[in-house]
Amino acid sequence: MPDRIELAASGRARCRACRKAISKGQERFAEAAPNPLAEGETQYYYHLECAAERRPKPFAALCATLQPPRDDLEPLAAAAALATAHHRLERLGVLERAKSARANCRFCRELIEKDAWRVALQPIEEGRVGAWGFIHLACVGGYTGVKPSLERLLRYSDLPEEARAEIDSALTAMIVPEPSAAGAEGSTDEDDGPEADGTAAGDLDRPGKD
Ligand SMILES: [Zn+2]
Ligand SMILES: [Zn+2]
Repeated sequence: MPDRIELAASGRARCRACRKAISKGQERFAEAAPNPLAEGETQYYYHLECAAERRPKPFAALCATLQPPRDDLEPLAAAAALATAHHRLERLGVLERAKSARANCRFCRELIEKDAWRVALQPIEEGRVGAWGFIHLACVGGYTGVKPSLERLLRYSDLPEEARAEIDSALTAMIVPEPSAAGAEGSTDEDDGPEADGTAAGDLDRPGKD
């Protein structure tokens, strides 16, 4: 079955990106993929917002082919287009305070101090959330080349309401460097991928709930 948007038949499935339940009757993005355990296909489910942000390419491809066209999905298609133009944006996952001063920022390479705001790099492939380490919240603009919305940053975390104002002012102060002629994003692309030693940011210090 091809990728599709459908109504959730039950409230049992969890979104692969935010891990929250998708309510019964709510629209969801069902992404088809080879079944890793058996022959045939399986589906991975996402809230539409989460699909647009974290699986932008397949989501945008589907939106472009919907008949009749869905004008109401335009804001989500725009979010997917943004995440396609700035290809690192889709990796931004859990936003949280660093639980320890163990990981270095994947952008500026400086240590992320304990309790500093950090964003986990969590690209999603085949329904699996990756663990590529962390960047400072302030480094998001430099890393992705764009300033994400507050909603985008908060969506994959369960932060208390008080944190909103703090994240909002960090966002206001965030610097997005002008792309250079050579392409600011392209210059460090050889670093893309999981942390080489896999220990600093991998198993020992996973984002979110342990
Ligand atoms: Zn979700
Ligand atoms: Zn940094």
